[in-house]
Amino acid sequence: MKQSRFVSDYVIPLWEPPAIAVAGGASYPVRNIYCVGRNYAEHAREMGTDPEREPPFFFMKSASCAVSSGSRIQYPSRTNNLHHEVELVCAVGASGSDISVADAPEHIFGYAVGVDLTRRDLQQNMKEKGRPWEIGKCFTQAAPVGEIQPSWNIGHPREGKISLSVNGTVRQEGNLKDMIWSVDEVIAELSTYYKLEVGDLIFTGTPAGVGPLTSGDDVDCSVAGLEALQFTVS
Ligand code: MN
Repeated sequence: MKQSRFVSDYVIPLWEPPAIAVAGGASYPVRNIYCVGRNYAEHAREMGTDPEREPPFFFMKSASCAVSSGSRIQYPSRTNNLHHEVELVCAVGASGSDISVADAPEHIFGYAVGVDLTRRDLQQNMKEKGRPWEIGKCFTQAAPVGEIQPSWNIGHPREGKISLSVNGTVRQEGNLKDMIWSVDEVIAELSTYYKLEVGDLIFTGTPAGVGPLTSGDDVDCSVAGLEALQFTVS
């Protein structure tokens, strides 16, 4: 075995890591995308479940699902019910396991607005059968993410309006303070399952009002204090 590897050692060309723009001009390379399920009471109710304060639960998307603001998103295959879920996204800036709630902010590089695009019909079908959700959640362009604002510029937003509009009509509106599990609690719990690494994005759950997107829709998303996220479905 060789001790080190060079680009020329790979049998196929190395690809650029998926990356999201950071305010100020550089990029944040994406390693993993973790997502929290049902983290706002009103959204839990609209999905037909009781918003009890059970520990948060997690699922993942592939890093390659990440796309930047301004993208044209191809309506995905095998679905007739593509849903939007606007979410606050945390970008991990320092790795760690078993992170305490109090220490969580020190592990966050910055924040962005993201949308957890969901093939809802496939997700529901898999749920009913007790099968994994991946095909509902993890697909090409399933994770649009706006420009990342470093926490040294904006601090750690824990309240403020989060909203999503389609063709100028507000569809989702909530407040970060209404999360069932706070950003810090999410990081503490997630880091007991996985060692969080730099490059990891964490989608922190969506407020009520999720609904379908169709070809031609213009989607605008905002979280107070962050750069807006915009994309078009084609
Ligand atoms: Mn979600």
